[in-house]
Amino acid sequence: MKKLAPDVARERRLESSRRWREANLERKREAVRRWRAANPGKALDAARCWKAANPEHSRLWHEANPQSRREANRRWQAANPDKQRRSIQRWREANPAILSAHSAKRRALTRGATVGDPKAVAAIYEKAKSKRRVRCAYCGRYPRVGERHVDHVIPLAKGGPHTAANLRITCAQCNLSKGVKTAEEFLSCPPN
Ligand SMILES: [Zn+2]
Repeated sequence: MKKLAPDVARERRLESSRRWREANLERKREAVRRWRAANPGKALDAARCWKAANPEHSRLWHEANPQSRREANRRWQAANPDKQRRSIQRWREANPAILSAHSAKRRALTRGATVGDPKAVAAIYEKAKSKRRVRCAYCGRYPRVGERHVDHVIPLAKGGPHTAANLRITCAQCNLSKGVKTAEEFLSCPPN
């Protein structure tokens, strides 16, 4: 028999093994399905391990199948109402800045205000909720985290926009006594 050139022989070997893999793929899949059906516990553990080791794959799959993720979420929520409530509660406790930025934006939109760059606006709420020391823009004191408000320099009620440039972090006292005054009106006549 004529001896083949090494590269041709290599090509043929690769081609033959590719064909073999294709022919056996379905057989392998069927074997995996049978093993999973016979070993549900081990299959679940293996799936969890694989998922933990390949977080990127899971993210890409969910991005490509948004409907499937929403349905899975809905099913889980319907089956676990208590866990769902606790999970929402934990999220709310862990994300106070996002919550207050969201409700401030809703109030601004209700009043027909211009809404600015959401990232810049959210950064102010984040600062108000988490920065260690923040000065009140009006009285200069340092209110504690729970006593900080975000104020519109020109109030929404007077047509002020909901933009970073029109927002100041203040103490609760200044914000509440300022009411619908502009910052200029408030500062020219501060409360006693
Ligand atoms: Zn103040």
